[in-house]
Amino acid sequence: MNRQANCICRYNNILIKPIILILILNLYLLNVRCSSVEKESLSVTYVANCGFLIESGTKKILVDALFKEGYNRYEIPDSGTRILLTSNKEPFNNIDLILITHSHADHFDPEMVIRCMVNNPDAKLLCPEQVLDIIGKDPAGYEKIRSRITECTPDTFTTEKIEIDGIEVTACRLAHGYQNKSDIQNIAYLIRINKIKVFHTGDADPLQINKLTGIDLSEEHINIGLINSEFGQIKNAEITNRYIHAAHNIIMHLPGDIAMTWMEPLKEQPGLFSDPFVFTKSLEKKVYCFDTE
Ligand SMILES: [Zn+2]
Repeated sequence: MNRQANCICRYNNILIKPIILILILNLYLLNVRCSSVEKESLSVTYVANCGFLIESGTKKILVDALFKEGYNRYEIPDSGTRILLTSNKEPFNNIDLILITHSHADHFDPEMVIRCMVNNPDAKLLCPEQVLDIIGKDPAGYEKIRSRITECTPDTFTTEKIEIDGIEVTACRLAHGYQNKSDIQNIAYLIRINKIKVFHTGDADPLQINKLTGIDLSEEHINIGLINSEFGQIKNAEITNRYIHAAHNIIMHLPGDIAMTWMEPLKEQPGLFSDPFVFTKSLEKKVYCFDTE
């Protein structure tokens, strides 16, 4: 009896465990890769508020993800996630590029940026001047990361194109919405990674996006729009479609309770936004596949 039991146990160890492992690995690969080799995949992992990890191929980009202030209104990364974000731990390990749209604390924390960059020795930072001024208030920390920072502050309603380690970024300076804080340098980013285009609005005002010069975003064939809650309002859907025109839309900058119900009215008007989606859980990940031929 004992011998048979031992036998089953060994059989489990030798065969069943590897089979289970292979099944788990396959499920994992299905989740992170596209079914066809001709397609490119890009994944978006939600951190909180307007913060995301964007991954495609071997590249990893953080946008507005290093922050801890929610003004008692917006979601923030919890303490465990903040540790992962700043200590080169999965899924936030080996970060290539950090983008910050503007200096507001619900998008950016200087101490977290410095710690993340110190622990991710290849990470580069792209940000407007106002963000850099705040980072510079810690001269010792700033000195450690200075050589990897690119400051980019185009004039209002103009653009600037930059390539960093094979990632093409077009910085679009747009007016800050949310009660129009016109003194804020708000940069929306068009990111091109493995032929896939992602556009992050930052806190841009949809009612002033028509003033942007130097690029026609609607002609860029944007694959994924990370659009703030003002672009995501039903009354602004026409503007969002006309000026950004992304194939897939992720609505961000929503307070947690509103995020939970945001999709409800769209059931009645399914064509309002192209493939709309709202993240409701931190570290939730969505994988998109694109035919980039
Ligand atoms: Zn803001």
